Amino acid sequence: MKGIAVLGSTGSIGQNTLDVVSRHPDRYEVVALTAQRQWRALAAQCLRFRPQLAVLSDPTHVPELRAALAASGLGTEVASGEESLLAAATLPRADFVMAAIVGAAGLAPTLAAARAGRRVLLANKEALVMSGRLLLEAVADSGAELLPIDSEHNAIFQCLPSARPGVVAAGVTRIWLTASGGPFLRRPLASLGAVTPDEACAHPRWVMGRKISVDSATLMNKGLELIEAELLFGLPPGGVEVVIHPESIVHSLVAYADGSTLAQLGNPDMRTPIAHALAWPERMESGVESLDMLRLGALHFEAPDRGRFPCLRLAEAAARSGGTAAAILNAANEVAVAAFLEGRLNFTAIAAVIERVLERQSSTPMHSLADVLAADGESRRRASELVAGFAGETA
Ligand code: NDP
Repeated sequence: MKGIAVLGSTGSIGQNTLDVVSRHPDRYEVVALTAQRQWRALAAQCLRFRPQLAVLSDPTHVPELRAALAASGLGTEVASGEESLLAAATLPRADFVMAAIVGAAGLAPTLAAARAGRRVLLANKEALVMSGRLLLEAVADSGAELLPIDSEHNAIFQCLPSARPGVVAAGVTRIWLTASGGPFLRRPLASLGAVTPDEACAHPRWVMGRKISVDSATLMNKGLELIEAELLFGLPPGGVEVVIHPESIVHSLVAYADGSTLAQLGNPDMRTPIAHALAWPERMESGVESLDMLRLGALHFEAPDRGRFPCLRLAEAAARSGGTAAAILNAANEVAVAAFLEGRLNFTAIAAVIERVLERQSSTPMHSLADVLAADGESRRRASELVAGFAGETA
């Protein structure tokens, strides 16, 4: 029986994780659940999974959550704030930690779980993109396990039987990182400036949280994933190539020196990589149907258009720069995407804001978490100023 803490349990990945866990009550016990504000959803999850600890990082609705759980006679401890997220990530009974908080807010608890030597199931790619080798070193120092949840990285991991985070597998010549292309793959370029948040979040293949949905529409998600893949699998810049695959059936591919290319295929459903990482090195049922090869039809692959998707180009440049460049890119993106979702910035201005921040803020060497946080804070400040300047403008 393994104890699992689900950080970001009310989100898309969190809910999928609880769905998989609920299919295996003999193997997993939920010991901690966390959310930011959605106290009703968290209360419902607590009533079902009876964790030891429930955390709302924003304290506003803690009294309501406490009252709801007390009325049900549940012994779950309710806590709030950043420190409580760290407590959830390092609870002695949490053998496994699902890192599924969105954005930079997930960095500290993910790092804490890694330092505490847990099996870290990494959905929160922003944590790794920001902190780079610092997170991998924490994993190596503590003997933690870092298993990728992003479907592409989980696919690559499955095609590299001996993979260890940060260590390149012998004989690998290239990783092909597949991308669906998002909702705007074929949309006329001239109309992109006017797309709404709901249009950007209407992903053709995946149902996800709003921030990653916008990242998928700009292809920044693929840029962040490219940085994540280079870090996780120890490849030099240029070793990972993005390929558009609109069907989202092939989740990524690994090419070897002998001419072999291995791929992982499956229906686009996050319960597959979640179940894989939970059960690894075994396999278990996830609730996802196997592919029917006879009904699959044709699969298509094409090169990404970096004119249509400038965010991919910006992320590739940040990957080449090294140091704090990825943290700067990530922070500017988080600010710009939040502004877009709130109707303060138009879609095409997201890339423009990030590009200007990267032009004005140089990458510096990254020796410690303080370097990461300083770069992140400075980038957020610059991006917020630029967003204010863009307000009302058509980019
Ligand atoms: P959601 O927006 O659906 O969920 C985010 C979760 O994090 C919610 O539980 C939310 O709480 C909580 N949260 C948000 N902000 C904070 C904060 N500041 N402090 C503490 N908790 C917070 O996101 P997703 O599940 O879609 O994505 C989560 C992560 O997984 C992201 O990093 C994403 O890139 C990655 N990922 C997601 C995939 C997907 O299919 N969704 C696929 C691959 C990776 P509340 O509900 O209260 O707001």
